[in-house]
Amino acid sequence: MFNAILIENDEAGYRASMQQLDDSQLPAGDVTVRVSHSTLNYKDALAITGKGRVVRRFPMVPGVDLVGTVEQSNHSDYAQGDTVVLNGWGVGEKHWGGFAQKARVDGNWLVPLRGRFTPRQAMAVGTAGYTAMLCVLALERHGVKPEDGEILVTGAAGGVGSVATAILSRLGYTVVAVSGRPEEADYIRSLGAAEILDRAEFDGPGKPLGAERWAGAVDVVGSTTLANVCATMRYRGVVTACGLAGGMDFPATVAPFILRGVTLVGIDSVMCPRLERLEAWRRLARDLDVSKLERIGGEVGLSEVIPLASQMLEGKLRGRVVVDVNR
Ligand code: NDP
Repeated sequence: MFNAILIENDEAGYRASMQQLDDSQLPAGDVTVRVSHSTLNYKDALAITGKGRVVRRFPMVPGVDLVGTVEQSNHSDYAQGDTVVLNGWGVGEKHWGGFAQKARVDGNWLVPLRGRFTPRQAMAVGTAGYTAMLCVLALERHGVKPEDGEILVTGAAGGVGSVATAILSRLGYTVVAVSGRPEEADYIRSLGAAEILDRAEFDGPGKPLGAERWAGAVDVVGSTTLANVCATMRYRGVVTACGLAGGMDFPATVAPFILRGVTLVGIDSVMCPRLERLEAWRRLARDLDVSKLERIGGEVGLSEVIPLASQMLEGKLRGRVVVDVNR
């Protein structure tokens, strides 16, 4: 038997609860992992509360991330005792995920955890941190260099924003952070932000074009914020869009794209090809200061996750929340 969070949806309604499950209930897969840690992502919070259509099959163990030790493997790349990480691939949505002491998954979804991160640190990175790295890689791929100018990071006190700020500042970029929480200003500065702007400046309906300021941007908010970010990019600036914390809509005009040659790059971590994932994890190991990661990642036990999900959707959590599934 093992402990897990289970989401059910039947005549009794949509609900998440702590349960004891049996190994025989685990889904199909060629690798069984004894999970040590998971982490609470925005998508997990949507799944647990039922506020977003994240879960596609019921009952479901949520948790899009996990790290642990291989207990049993029929996959040629993995043997008993290996430490492995999993981010995305529909885990916690279509296939049982990381909020459990055990998981059975497709070995092709796993990444070996070698090198600098401990299992706990790998979950302090988690999908949010790996997505932040995908955004940085996209800025680089589109030629944005530190000397080109300031990089805007929205939702800076949250998971993606915190890690993006830490990586970009370490790489020598000047980071201007956007946050709605003045009480987190010291935290955001400690990650490397040079300046912090109030998110109210980006909230309202803006003009098609504003004063040119940003060479690059990492946006986790979407909606009017993303539209205003695009409108204030410098000539040929690059915006990476990965989130919808402020809304799914995008009330923008084409002006920034056709008059300033702005590039809007979409970032998806879930189905991102394996080689790009390996590159993202290699770069995280190189470019993310582990002492900053310790500041970013707090820890809770599995039994604390359900109430925290609502707080996350209210924007009350800071940085990343690592989940020790064994307490
Ligand atoms: P968090 O909840 O940790 O952070 C989101 C931050 O956004 C908050 O801390 C807050 O920052 C800001 N925010 C929240 N609500 C609003 C609002 N209404 N208007 C403006 N700003 C707001 O989430 P994550 O960082 O983990 O994820 C951020 C987004 O990225 C989510 O939408 C998530 O679904 C998405 N995501 C997408 C991935 C992909 O593959 N594309 C992968 C991972 C995440 P502050 O308090 O500083 O203002």
